[in-house]
Amino acid sequence: MLAKVTIIGRPNVGKSSLFNMMTGHKIAIVADEAGTTRDISEFEYTDDKNDLTYILADSGWLDFSSEDDEVAVDITERTQRAIVESDLLIWVLEYDRFTDLDESIYKVLRSQKNKNFIILANKADNENQVMEAYSLAGKGEMELFPVSSSHNAGIGDVKRFIAKFLVSKGLNYKKGLDDDTLKIAFIGRPNVGKSSIVNTIVGSDRVMVKDMAGTTRDAIDTKFTYAETEFTLIDTAGIRRLSKVWTRNVENWSIMRSERALKRADVIAVIVDGFEWIVQQDLSLIGRVADEKKGLIIVVNKWDMVLNKPGVDKAHMMERYTAYLQEKIEFLPWVSVIFTSATEKKRLTNILDEAITIAWERQKRVKTSVFNEFLEQAIYKHPPTGNKKSHSPKIYYGSQVDTNPPKFVLTVNNPNHFHFSYKRYLENKIRDNFGFAGTPLTIEYNGRWKYKWVSK
Ligand code: GDP
Repeated sequence: MLAKVTIIGRPNVGKSSLFNMMTGHKIAIVADEAGTTRDISEFEYTDDKNDLTYILADSGWLDFSSEDDEVAVDITERTQRAIVESDLLIWVLEYDRFTDLDESIYKVLRSQKNKNFIILANKADNENQVMEAYSLAGKGEMELFPVSSSHNAGIGDVKRFIAKFLVSKGLNYKKGLDDDTLKIAFIGRPNVGKSSIVNTIVGSDRVMVKDMAGTTRDAIDTKFTYAETEFTLIDTAGIRRLSKVWTRNVENWSIMRSERALKRADVIAVIVDGFEWIVQQDLSLIGRVADEKKGLIIVVNKWDMVLNKPGVDKAHMMERYTAYLQEKIEFLPWVSVIFTSATEKKRLTNILDEAITIAWERQKRVKTSVFNEFLEQAIYKHPPTGNKKSHSPKIYYGSQVDTNPPKFVLTVNNPNHFHFSYKRYLENKIRDNFGFAGTPLTIEYNGRWKYKWVSK
């Protein structure tokens, strides 16, 4: 999961110029709806020097024309929200002053158990000012950095610190070359046609195989390009060599293989034998893919044999089969189903096309402001119901905190007060509005009551 670092501070301390300076994207802020309470900017930032990717967020601010009280309430709430959603806070101050508004932010930060915040004393443009900035030290923060965001001074140190801190927390995610390839795996019971499919795909004219890299003794990945997309086919060795170990412990061996492929791939094609219909083992594999939150394609193979059955209604067989799958698999509405014939080489590359679409869907990130507008509407149309009469479940706000797989966190009054069906409602609404076809989603409630210590 990507770490999130949020810039907080009262208006006019230089948060937005700092955000722009750190990300190098000058338009990021301008494009936002300033003056609303939801003008949060987020940027997936890859720090090449320090070998790390994280989300840098600007907590936003109220309009300057707002009343002082309003600003105070607003920044207190923003700070609370940032604490809940972030791994590290960057609190921006002006190097030479500490105002009442700063004090109200400090109040919130002080009550934090793990004081994961650093202070940036901004606008320290020269040496004297840098010296003066240190008078702000000793506010319970982890570090104080005098910086000048307009002169780009001191920013490198801040980035180094962020990287070191996130790595020490195990949040060392890096968007590297290998991560940019689409990792696909084919799993399924023995004899459903996995190796026939994989070998045909890899041997096809439209697929350019680059190399086969042995990563561990018995897991071999195949890299190939298809439709201008770099793929890594996970664990092809297992599929190729399957026949040799066949007679031994096939069951355990293929389960172990599937497990490993499941963990490593982004998109998984579960192959089933169309001629034999669905059996329990297929369902458990499909369930495992959903549990692991991986992209899922169900490949119904040996379709030629299905169509060659005497008396079969060829024109409607796919619809019939889909309806049959629907009965077996409750989450089928978001799953892609492809009917293939490995022997007749039918629709095999459709699996790759579909994988590309799903990979895109999994990378999608809904902007926090857009998501909250959507959330408001969804709640308005169908407010959450409680588990008991005394419950009155409330959702305050939400955001997409991760991609691949997409994950949403909703800040609520008490997660235990929500009827279980509400998540399903929200998931359907999210899919209706934003897509995410082919991939499981995670929705989590985050209870605000946990942060009761915050003085208001
Ligand atoms: P694996 O164990 O899942 O890798 O399955 P294989 O690829 O070894 O296939 C098992 C058997 O099914 C072989 O005899 C294949 O020729 C046959 N087979 C695989 N796919 C198809 C298909 O689409 N149609 C037909 N008629 N036979 C197939």
